Amino acid sequence: MARTPLIAGNWKMNLNHLEAIALVQKIAFSLPEKYYAKVEVAVLPPFTAIRAVQNVIEGDKLKLKYGAQDVSPVDSGAYTGDISGLMLAKLGCHYVVVGHSERREYHEESDELVNKKVKAALKHGITPILCVGEKLDVREANGQVEHCSDQLVADLKGLKAEQVANVVIAYEPVWAIGTGKVATPADAQEVCGAIRKKLDEKYGSEVAATVRVLYGGSVKSGNISDLVTQPDIDGALVGGASLDGEEFTKLSAMA
Ligand code: PEP
Repeated sequence: MARTPLIAGNWKMNLNHLEAIALVQKIAFSLPEKYYAKVEVAVLPPFTAIRAVQNVIEGDKLKLKYGAQDVSPVDSGAYTGDISGLMLAKLGCHYVVVGHSERREYHEESDELVNKKVKAALKHGITPILCVGEKLDVREANGQVEHCSDQLVADLKGLKAEQVANVVIAYEPVWAIGTGKVATPADAQEVCGAIRKKLDEKYGSEVAATVRVLYGGSVKSGNISDLVTQPDIDGALVGGASLDGEEFTKLSAMA
């Protein structure tokens, strides 16, 4: 089954809502419509810019998708500072990043919490982009496949096959994020292939063939082609390079 590649730009904690509008307009202007037939492109602004980005995308009828970088495991209530799936769905978000290594590291997010967040996103019809990935010490001990498979199983715990079919997985080796050290295409394929194999084992071949598995970690226009030509890599989660409109559209057009 052919999977449409997804290029998702994770803006992290960058850009106020006015800067976000300017970047979306730049992306929309530089990526000709014809590309959207072969690649899905999404931007993931900070919460404060989602409404502004939505207005531009809907107002100009752009084919760009958008979403958020995190979601609360619960819908509403006394959870100061949190944003729920209910709120994100009302803003028309298509995607939400769940379990990014920066949240696992700086907010001590466990697999148990990540699992609840995946469920919260799905409950509101938002596609979770579930991030898994090993730190450098695990890679040096050649434990990457086992580590990522374990994270995947824990983060998807309790989901039915038809729900898993609506999840995007992003393999993001922690040592490659924001470091300029991209995984080799063979190393990225090894883990993305193992993720698909695990999905096959647990949820069946149809789900495994449907789910998009992205690679993330220092992706740019100079390395995207060699990554997305791997059989189990269906696009990229892009951090730093997604803040540069020209670079982001260039790499999106190459996916
Ligand atoms: C990310 O934050 O998900 C990421 C992949 O960042 P970068 O592209 O900057 O390595």
